[in-house]
Amino acid sequence: MPIDPTQPYDDANIFAKILRGEIPANRVYEDEWTLAFHDIAPQAPVHILVVPKGNYVSWDDFSAKASDAEIAGFARAIGHVAREAGLVEAGYRVLYNIGRNGGQEVPHLHAHIFGGRPLGRMVG
Ligand code: IMP
Repeated sequence: MPIDPTQPYDDANIFAKILRGEIPANRVYEDEWTLAFHDIAPQAPVHILVVPKGNYVSWDDFSAKASDAEIAGFARAIGHVAREAGLVEAGYRVLYNIGRNGGQEVPHLHAHIFGGRPLGRMVG
């Protein structure tokens, strides 16, 4: 069920529980700002989710409210995870679903990293 992007942050969401260690995840990377783990229902041979540790519903409030250090840390982590997953040479996709029209279901900002097969050209 797509989320309302203007809703207040709900710390009972599944990624908040993963960040607190209350439920397991197949973790691949963690630093001061960021946690990355494999998607539970992968849509490509490599499908990793990267989440900021701060409480942001979507890209909208992250881009408006996060500190420059959080934004830089998150961006660098996405690149690091993609490099560590061996995706750079063949290429990969980073995707954010944002709000209802974007099809976002989990109300904690996450970047999807897809790779490991030709993904086709996607615009819109
Ligand atoms: P969204 O549509 O951009 O919100 O994507 C949410 C993603 O979270 C989907 O690709 C789900 O498969 C994934 N997901 C949901 N629950 C879990 C979990 O417990 N662990 C890892 N991935 C999850």
